[in-house]
Amino acid sequence: MLEYQAAKDLLNGKVILVTGAGDGIGKTAALTYAQHGATVILLGKTVKKLEAVYDQIEQAGYPKPAIVPLDLKGATEQNYLDMAETIEEQFGHLDGLLHNASMLGVLGPFEHITMSSVEEVFKVNVIAEIMLTKALLPVMRKSESASLIFTSSSVGRKARSFWGEYAMSKFATEGMMQAIAHEYEGSNIRTNSINPGATRTGMRANAYPAENPQLLKKPEEIMPTYLYLMGKDSADINGQQLNAQ
Ligand code: NDP
Repeated sequence: MLEYQAAKDLLNGKVILVTGAGDGIGKTAALTYAQHGATVILLGKTVKKLEAVYDQIEQAGYPKPAIVPLDLKGATEQNYLDMAETIEEQFGHLDGLLHNASMLGVLGPFEHITMSSVEEVFKVNVIAEIMLTKALLPVMRKSESASLIFTSSSVGRKARSFWGEYAMSKFATEGMMQAIAHEYEGSNIRTNSINPGATRTGMRANAYPAENPQLLKKPEEIMPTYLYLMGKDSADINGQQLNAQ
């Protein structure tokens, strides 16, 4: 997918929400979507990081973004419903939702998994996605053509030793993607997942501290898949598991 070339105006007039938009892949996806004409809604935990992305978008002259500060760990269903109402009032429709935020949790033997850690990982990586998607689907129904994208991982497709906690959460994400894709088939909403592949971010550095990050793709380099799935060129793609590399 690295070779897809998006038209400059691919996302003109689109309203797209990106979770974890303050750092790593989510930050680059938000900037890239804005660069291609979208109004982006930046959702994330650290307000300072979101403000920095907001400023970068404004300074570049892209459509004015919006910020939603929200910690997915503590957010309630009502928080998501209120947010959906605000988005509907402000924009009338939502054309794209990139579920990108997630946490790694603790890597290690299955027998050492603590319930507090696994509950936290599932809250952020799965439960928050369920609540956010449930709240936003009605606003996405109002779009001419909407794209719902989940972020998976290589271990969300084939699990490995010591990755249990994170892998189980990504399998749940893939299951959610497939259930929604099947349910909304033939509607205005298509649903797919992306495995970004090894990418130079803070999360990757935490998981592989001994690795040379210079050997990894930068988030900018994996954007073709993120643009492809978000724009009209993927209008017929539904229920697919894509690899960005
Ligand atoms: P980063 O850790 O660099 O960025 C994660 C983003 O998610 C940050 O903006 C972070 O916000 C946000 N986030 C984390 N927890 C919460 C929370 N509780 N509430 C709100 N926002 C939160 O990760 P990557 O960019 O590397 O990863 C992006 C996605 O890609 C993830 O889903 C990851 O699983 C997946 N992935 C990444 C790979 C890689 O090699 N990088 C490989 C395979 C999959 P803040 O900065 O404020 O904490």
